[in-house]
Amino acid sequence: HIVAAASSTSKDAMPRVAALLDVGQLSEIIAVESADTFKRPIYAGNAIATVQSQDAVKVITVRTSAFDKAAAEGGSASVEAVGTACDAGTSSFVSEELVKSDRPDLAAAGIVISGGRGMGNGENFALLEKVADKLGAAIGASRAAVDAGFVSNDLQVGQTGKIVAPELYIAVGISGAIQHLAGMKESKVIVAINKDEEAPIFQVADYGLVGDLFEILPELEAKL
Ligand SMILES: Cc1cc2nc3c(=O)[nH]c(=O)nc-3n(C[C@H](O)[C@H](O)[C@H](O)COP(=O)(O)OP(=O)(O)OC[C@H]3O[C@@H](n4cnc5c(N)ncnc54)[C@H](O)[C@@H]3O)c2cc1C
Repeated sequence: HIVAAASSTSKDAMPRVAALLDVGQLSEIIAVESADTFKRPIYAGNAIATVQSQDAVKVITVRTSAFDKAAAEGGSASVEAVGTACDAGTSSFVSEELVKSDRPDLAAAGIVISGGRGMGNGENFALLEKVADKLGAAIGASRAAVDAGFVSNDLQVGQTGKIVAPELYIAVGISGAIQHLAGMKESKVIVAINKDEEAPIFQVADYGLVGDLFEILPELEAKL
């Protein structure tokens, strides 16, 4: 069987592997029921499908946030170093630019603080960064904040962004659209800061602060 974390690289590569093997891909599983049966979210996480595969070789991507961390050592599988990749045909590797950040990786962070359209602009994300520095948190964002150019798209949390499930998720100026919730609603503790007490984010929040984020964030930072 061929198994990979549901990262952007494997979401790109694994369907091609499945197609070449002429098998169906099992995408983003969240539970293993038996050797051939798995659970996976559908409709942006609003329903969970139990799927059974009769393919001899199973091609699986895994939503890592749904599983506990495995021990880094001690497994029984053999590890083999692979030589150079096969002929890339007309494509050639030019360069790679990786985002460098001192912050924890968004998908693996224990605490995530995300900003939405309510942040107003990219400069105001400095307010989030100050709180994140004190908490050792990763920064995330809603798609509206990304689309408005406040922050880069690798910070997007949600159905079409990263799926996170940290110990603590703080949503600031985010309304709580279903596509955003799909990326963070499995977080252990959710805190929402929003000036609209009717905002849907409060329906999933464990703690809600109704008020102006421009007053609350500096106060929060000062108290930490
Ligand atoms: C196919 C599809 C995929 C999508 N994928 C994603 C995705 O992956 N991730 C995602 O996030 N969205 C996604 N979206 C978009 C989603 O539907 C919403 O449009 C988006 O999440 C809204 O972002 P927001 O909450 O920041 O903005 P808004 O909905 O505009 O909410 C802004 C919030 O800020 C509050 N606010 C404003 N000013 C202040 C203030 N001063 N103090 C406190 N609160 C304030 C407002 O009360 C409001 O609740 C997707 C949509 C589609 C159709």
